[in-house]
Amino acid sequence: MGNNFNRRSFLKASLMGTVAAAVATAAVAKETFNPLVAEAANIVAPVKETSEFPYTVDPKYQRLPGNKIYYLRMCDPEENKTPIQFVHDDVSATTGKKDTGKDLPRINAETIGIKGRRATVSETSVIYFAQHDGTVLPLRQKEVGWRQLDVALSVAAWSVELWYNGFTCVGSGPAGIIQHYPINPETNEMAKEPVVFQGLFNWDNTMAEDKRSQGMQWKFNSAEEATKIVKKAARLLGADLVGIAPYDDRWTYGNWCRPKTMPFKLPNGRTVYMAYNLDKYLKNREVEVFGLSNFEADWVKYAGFQPKNVIALAFEMDYESYRTAPSIIEGAGTGKAYSNMGEVSFKLATFLRELGYYAVSSGNDTGMSVPIAVQAGLGEAGRNGMLVTQKYGPRVRIAKVYTDLDIIPDKPRSFGVREFCRLCMKCADACPAQAISHEKEARVLQPEDCGTSENPYTSKWHVDAHRCNSFWAYNGGSCGSCISVCSWNKIGQWNHDIARIATQVPLVQDAARKFDEWFGYNGPVNPEERIESGYVTNMVNDFWSDTEPTK
Ligand code: SF4
Ligand code: SF4
Repeated sequence: MGNNFNRRSFLKASLMGTVAAAVATAAVAKETFNPLVAEAANIVAPVKETSEFPYTVDPKYQRLPGNKIYYLRMCDPEENKTPIQFVHDDVSATTGKKDTGKDLPRINAETIGIKGRRATVSETSVIYFAQHDGTVLPLRQKEVGWRQLDVALSVAAWSVELWYNGFTCVGSGPAGIIQHYPINPETNEMAKEPVVFQGLFNWDNTMAEDKRSQGMQWKFNSAEEATKIVKKAARLLGADLVGIAPYDDRWTYGNWCRPKTMPFKLPNGRTVYMAYNLDKYLKNREVEVFGLSNFEADWVKYAGFQPKNVIALAFEMDYESYRTAPSIIEGAGTGKAYSNMGEVSFKLATFLRELGYYAVSSGNDTGMSVPIAVQAGLGEAGRNGMLVTQKYGPRVRIAKVYTDLDIIPDKPRSFGVREFCRLCMKCADACPAQAISHEKEARVLQPEDCGTSENPYTSKWHVDAHRCNSFWAYNGGSCGSCISVCSWNKIGQWNHDIARIATQVPLVQDAARKFDEWFGYNGPVNPEERIESGYVTNMVNDFWSDTEPTK
């Protein structure tokens, strides 16, 4: 760790020299010089606010059906009949770069135990989930970063998401969870079978109705006051960033659904509910799924209200765990944020319901988080398809709370990410599955550019969920390399200012990306090198041995 600090300090000092020259040039134009990089950054690359959604949405745009989301499609038996088709088998057709995709061993079905054909969506997803939730140890269990020790931390970090957020955690509709063996309050005996309860992402607004019917709806003095109080509450309850978007029907899924589950007896006699056939998978790794329950996307019917605004909450993911990407320790950083999403958005919804306002707490379910967060002013949509924030880069997860409370929406803000993404491409280079487009410009994607999990007719870069998830099946957990290597993924503020300047100053643009690599700041970008050079092992060992947080 000491080495990293030194490297980082050196990098900072080196860049400061380069940047000072760029800043001076910009500052001279303004006939002033301010030695503070942050202020200079505001001169060179000011944060811009817009009143409209900042990216083109074609008139042909339609809401993404919930049952087309990758993790829900895995539960559709039809998706288990045909092998996966990547959008571009030959990635060079769209990237102009040498194709490394078609036969990448790490997204090859044989690597995950399927011979002679490509895996199906259901197969890759079930193989991934069975490792991800600790049901079986990862295929890579002998490697540092994928051992039972590493997996245990990840499963612990994900545990609230897996057990309490509800079936909406990867889905998109009204949900409950299976509560295992509650104590009968009358007899103090453990129940013999699990029962269904509301999860943290529940849509139960009876408390709000009770308050209203008793004339107890809290009246704020103004929408401005309500806005400040809601943001204050969200921060106290645990969100790292808070913004407000006006409710925009385009981002709500076209339908809502959740996986059908079946009960399975564990060897200890207890029952678990699974979305895939646990017995068949454990006995001979055969994949069988049970289908989806579909709901119409009807707010009034299921939640009792029509939302006016969406409170977008961003949660920082642990920097030290992300340095180990794509190890399972990275998954622990992700899982902790996912678990926090359920807890904090539930608390915020409870706050609103206690005041007599309707609220729906939500993670990745219900509607698309990235455009909502962009609309709420939390950041920009990067090449990797994720929200890139000014403070944490893409190293965040997003939850949202839909409400009928009158609060004042924030405006979308840009601070140079999209311009920088045109040149940077680091996430695309780092992707072990070649899932992220190398095309220079974001563009309005057409249906033929998109996989079934990707919604066409908005301006963005293509990200192939099939390729990504195929790597996850091999990897045994999520990956996060595209987040970890991003130049905006830093701790401290200085680098963000530099990145902002770099988007505008040709001299620095290329260096801003390369300095990270030269100094090993976020590890090797080349995926093979990242996995095989010993970098991940070192970072995982660092992670476990260092008790001092980096930030
Ligand atoms: S998580 Fe990112 S880097 Fe990893 S396979 Fe998916 S798209 Fe590629
Ligand atoms: S790594 Fe580069 S191209 Fe990818 S999201 Fe970050 S800034 Fe954009």
